[in-house]
Amino acid sequence: VTKDLPAPQRIDEAVWAIALPLPYGQPAYTLCYVLLGDDGTLHLVDPGWDTPENRASLRAAISVIGLDLDALSTVIASHYHADHLGLAEHLRETTGAAVVISDVERAVLADRARSSRHDLEAYAGTLESWGVPPERHAELDAALVAASVPVHDLEPDRELRDGEVLELPGHRLSSVITPGHTEGHLCLVDHDRAVIYTGDHVLPKVNPGLGLGRVTDRDPLTDYLDSLERLEPYDAFRVLPGHEAPFSGLRQRRAELAQHHLHRIGEVVRLTRFLGDAPIWEYASRMTWSLGWDGLHGFTLHSALYQTEQHVKLVRSGYHPFRQVARDRSL
Ligand SMILES: [Zn+2]
Repeated sequence: VTKDLPAPQRIDEAVWAIALPLPYGQPAYTLCYVLLGDDGTLHLVDPGWDTPENRASLRAAISVIGLDLDALSTVIASHYHADHLGLAEHLRETTGAAVVISDVERAVLADRARSSRHDLEAYAGTLESWGVPPERHAELDAALVAASVPVHDLEPDRELRDGEVLELPGHRLSSVITPGHTEGHLCLVDHDRAVIYTGDHVLPKVNPGLGLGRVTDRDPLTDYLDSLERLEPYDAFRVLPGHEAPFSGLRQRRAELAQHHLHRIGEVVRLTRFLGDAPIWEYASRMTWSLGWDGLHGFTLHSALYQTEQHVKLVRSGYHPFRQVARDRSL
């Protein structure tokens, strides 16, 4: 048992949060939500990473709260990443539960091209285009391999379109598709309980990574900023995120997350004046990083370069943060 793992938490008469550890360091665990139906059936939101330990500890945690995993009827995943969808296939096999994801995410899962991001040959081209000095290639290659997570080839039993309602016994969940973290990321709104399940779209402290799926023509950063605005009607709702801890104050958190990106975009706009078409490496090395530029190694360096690429691309496409702020104020 991991030291810092929180105990199962009761959210509501019929909703619990169970922390299931992840095999790598950060974040430490996924929050799996257990929904008890008014007919005794169980439903899960984000079942977590599939390890032998998690298979056993999910069952154990559910029995600690007085329920039985064999009553499982539905498994919903906010997105296809292994720390959320991971256990779904095993649970379907052992309990017969139906697996539900968004229609967009289903298409991502079905698209085998998604794995190309973790192709080292393709990555060599990326490092070249970013202008990464050759002596830093090896540590980035190693980080990419270490960070590659297994993707489950899974055909869901049901898909949810944006705005569709999933009727579970005692829980009405409205789908809000929030692209950004992944293309088909799904948030679920329970109006009766005034809660929103946000997966990795909104976390209380961590800034979610963006565009962590297949490569498309869409811009994950503008998608993400739009998706943050889409949650405005639920600002007073309690947030049940996929990691860290449940919290209130969605309005403020949405503002912080948008501000984080607008600040970065502002930095790029200023740098563009003298860096122009310079490669991503030149931009990233002049931006501010909480670890300091010299403190970035391996995966944190990769992540910094990737984020910088997204911000630079957006600025080069003509996006300007002050126009965005003006637009926000006019709403
Ligand atoms: Zn996650």
